[in-house]
Amino acid sequence: MEHPVILWFKRDLRVQDHPALTHAARLGPIIPLYIVEPDLWAEPDASGRQYAFLCDCLESLRDDLAALGLRLVVRVGDAVAVLEALRAAQGVAHLVSHEETGNLWSYARDRRVTEWARAQGVRWHEMPQSGVVRRLKSRDAWQGARDGMMRAPVLGPVEGPRGLALVSDDLPRAENLGLMDACPLRQKGGRGAGMRALTSFLRTRGESYQRAMSSPLHGARACSRISPHLAFGTLSLREAVQAGAAAPTGRGPDWARSMRSFQARLAWRDHFMQKLEDEPEIERRCLHPAYEGLRPHVADAARLAAWSRGETGLPFVDACMRSLLATGWLNFRMRSMLMAVASYHLWLDWRSTGPVLARAFTDYEPGIHWPQVQMQSGTTGMNTIRIYNPVKQGLDQDPTGVFTRRWLPELSAVPDAYLQRPWDWPEAERLLGRAYPAPIVDPVEAARAAREAVWACRRAHRGDAETARIVSRHASRKRPRRAKPKAASAQLSLDL
Ligand SMILES: Cc1cc2nc3c(=O)[nH]c(=O)nc-3n(C[C@H](O)[C@H](O)[C@H](O)COP(=O)(O)OP(=O)(O)OC[C@H]3O[C@@H](n4cnc5c(N)ncnc54)[C@H](O)[C@@H]3O)c2cc1C
Repeated sequence: MEHPVILWFKRDLRVQDHPALTHAARLGPIIPLYIVEPDLWAEPDASGRQYAFLCDCLESLRDDLAALGLRLVVRVGDAVAVLEALRAAQGVAHLVSHEETGNLWSYARDRRVTEWARAQGVRWHEMPQSGVVRRLKSRDAWQGARDGMMRAPVLGPVEGPRGLALVSDDLPRAENLGLMDACPLRQKGGRGAGMRALTSFLRTRGESYQRAMSSPLHGARACSRISPHLAFGTLSLREAVQAGAAAPTGRGPDWARSMRSFQARLAWRDHFMQKLEDEPEIERRCLHPAYEGLRPHVADAARLAAWSRGETGLPFVDACMRSLLATGWLNFRMRSMLMAVASYHLWLDWRSTGPVLARAFTDYEPGIHWPQVQMQSGTTGMNTIRIYNPVKQGLDQDPTGVFTRRWLPELSAVPDAYLQRPWDWPEAERLLGRAYPAPIVDPVEAARAAREAVWACRRAHRGDAETARIVSRHASRKRPRRAKPKAASAQLSLDL
């Protein structure tokens, strides 16, 4: 008798370029399974906007599987309990999924699944779906492995897979999972939305990418916006890399620069995710232990609340935060600034602020998020320390104040010259502490104090054994740049 195979969908909610589906189809009749795990959704980095995006994706996955003659089975509960119930009822011998570089919770869950599979004689086939290499021995070999994965052909649709038609549980409502989170301008999930974002970027929107990506105003259109689709897997990274490489050329220098830059960022994605894969604990502890005691472990509640709500009294910071809360997305530079202001000016520990941003991002991806959070907080012991001046950022990135006023309408009457520092406005008295808060810190003085403290720690540990270990484990090995690198093997160009 042929045993059925559980195909466990995780962060890979598509049927295209899906190594696990292709593999499962060869093993036997498939049970295409998605498990809604209430404990995962109770974690401090989970949010309603992410769950709403997931629900869109499951709907689209259900349709795409149906077109292949398969029925998606959704079950709610603990993964081991769900898998065991299916094994016992259906005589399952194989479990197939993609490798997941998730948060510490999913890491622990996967260890429990490993133990369960071993105890029950179920063979778990975990397959890579990105450039992240499991059990990587040395960073030196990483770039080649990643390039090989990205160059391999995109897998075609699976032909004639056989499946078992089992009943599903109802999808829980967000409020039943404790996920109350309004995000009126959230991106829509599902394969169709992912493909539309990618193709419109590669046909037209990408033209201004390189020029406009840092602007909070224009970046929303100029950036690809595929991040939540990569996070939930409605697009595979390889599809994005190869579609980018195949995008029409000959459209002038702006286009070529933009496409190179896009490829580099897709490579950064794998580079950062590899860090969390190698050291999952960096979600909880400073990459360099010397920075553990730098900031108070218990965050100043008033500062944390003000920053989280976009009420710090620093207009550009607040506008970025409010925009993020309403849309679920922010461009890279503004994410960096929000994080840096929290960590330096407000001197808040990244473990109290990181989850706030994680929840606000529809595209939350632990493998990018935690390394970035630590980089922007100066706790890696190796990256450049960047302390953004929020007033200057506002003037540079939003010179006419359109973005700031859109999200802070209470500042509409403040003239341009004072918009980013309303405390200097001669009429500040009728505004500050009333319609809009006075600044929670003096941005210049707070930055100076933070710089001194962080640099003192950096100097004390320069060249010590721990710093050397971190650099050797996490720094990218830059290879000489070719004049025209192949798009599919873009080099990393971060100072890591
Ligand atoms: C503190 C902080 C937290 C972040 N958390 C996340 C997160 O949880 N999820 C997430 O997807 N991105 C995160 N980023 C990285 C980056 O800001 C987003 O990937 C990007 O803004 C998403 O928009 P896009 O898809 O239009 O990006 P594009 O600029 O069009 O880039 C294409 C893709 O490349 C990848 N990418 C882009 N920039 C980076 C980067 N700096 N590092 C690694 N990969 C990158 C993403 O997968 C992105 O979708 C974070 C950045 C910072 C500073």
